[in-house]
Amino acid sequence: MHYILFAMHDLIVVGAGPAGSAAARTAAEQGLDTLILEKETFPRYKPCGGALSSRAASLLDFPLPGDICERTITGARVHFCDRILERHKGYNLTTLVTRSRFDHLLLQKARESGAGIKTQKVMDFQEKDGHVSVKTKEGTYQCRFLVVSSGCQDGLKNRIQGPGWKKSMGVCLVAEIEEEDQEIEERLGSTLDIHFGVAKSGYGWIFPHRGYYSVGIGGLSSRLRHPRQAMLQFLKKNGFSEGQRLSGHLIPQGGNMRRTAVGRVLLAGDAAGFVDAFTGEGICYALSSGQIAGQVIGEVPAPDVAQAYQKRCNKEFGEELKYALFFSKMMHSYPEVFLRILACQEEVLDRYIEIAAAKTSYKDFMRWLVPRLPISLLRTL
Ligand SMILES: Cc1cc2nc3c(=O)[nH]c(=O)nc-3n(C[C@H](O)[C@H](O)[C@H](O)COP(=O)(O)OP(=O)(O)OC[C@H]3O[C@@H](n4cnc5c(N)ncnc54)[C@H](O)[C@@H]3O)c2cc1C
Repeated sequence: MHYILFAMHDLIVVGAGPAGSAAARTAAEQGLDTLILEKETFPRYKPCGGALSSRAASLLDFPLPGDICERTITGARVHFCDRILERHKGYNLTTLVTRSRFDHLLLQKARESGAGIKTQKVMDFQEKDGHVSVKTKEGTYQCRFLVVSSGCQDGLKNRIQGPGWKKSMGVCLVAEIEEEDQEIEERLGSTLDIHFGVAKSGYGWIFPHRGYYSVGIGGLSSRLRHPRQAMLQFLKKNGFSEGQRLSGHLIPQGGNMRRTAVGRVLLAGDAAGFVDAFTGEGICYALSSGQIAGQVIGEVPAPDVAQAYQKRCNKEFGEELKYALFFSKMMHSYPEVFLRILACQEEVLDRYIEIAAAKTSYKDFMRWLVPRLPISLLRTL
């Protein structure tokens, strides 16, 4: 096969999800010659609940236009066994967005900052002699640095992390179910509907978007053996028809020690495993890690980039992800006791939902919660 060799870029970014677009925008703003290689033509569908936490939104350096913000969420309704608990705050916890439109906007912002974009699938890469060669069907590109932000289902990340992460993956199924806005308003309004105890100690969600509900379930793949069956049950139980188009997707369990950078190659977002293991929130960490990647490549001498990247990510959100994992392990070890505490005690839920708005951290929440937990639960950790 004959390959065309292209000119040297400062940075190539693989994948234009939130992590890739954030990395490209940050790097291009610093004057780096930046190219994004994305396999899909945008706007593209992305299976997601579309909950953009206030913490995630605060990372954007531009206001979100009204047509992207579908609903402002101020509260949560939590179901566990026969109990329902609802708490509201007087401020925005989360904004609901449709990922195809949100991701397209982020990509346009990267383009506005000067990043180039090509619709090509990256097949392979290789680092040698102070640069990285990036292979697509159309040719081989050269760059000083590579950010792999191609999500958790693409195999490129395994070149850095190794293939052994399958066990610590979550699996999600989601459907977008059309509904009149007035119906959605009456059923949920500005509330996220969370159902614990479905999906073998994972959870189910019903999120009130504009013109549709996002309905889904998620749990650890090692426990959720029959996700489709669990999803059909969840739909039926909540009054939705079972004939929905379902989309499945993996989600990494964050907080585990993974290698996220070697030499001139950095992993960002889901490719690096940066996801809250308890809630599945990943947009925030995708944006943050992408921005950090763009910054260090622009600021730090080449031999120190990989280490500086891992250090800054760790400082920025490493501890949060570890606490989220700890939280998720408590739930998986002792779901009955743990969920009764989270989902049935107003004070606990009230504090917990403040994490989404960055009013409190997981660490502070855990410090507050642990003295209130039964000894029997703590012994299982
Ligand atoms: C069902 C579900 C619901 C979720 N709900 C939420 C939520 O409500 N809130 C939240 O914060 N997080 C949620 N998440 C997590 C969130 O979707 C991810 O953490 C986030 O999308 C990660 O962004 P990313 O940029 O790392 O990867 P992605 O968004 O997955 O983007 C990766 C991009 O890379 C491209 N790509 C892949 N392979 C290649 C290749 N070889 N060459 C070129 N391009 C390639 C893909 O086409 C894609 O555009 C959810 C996840 C799932 C699965």
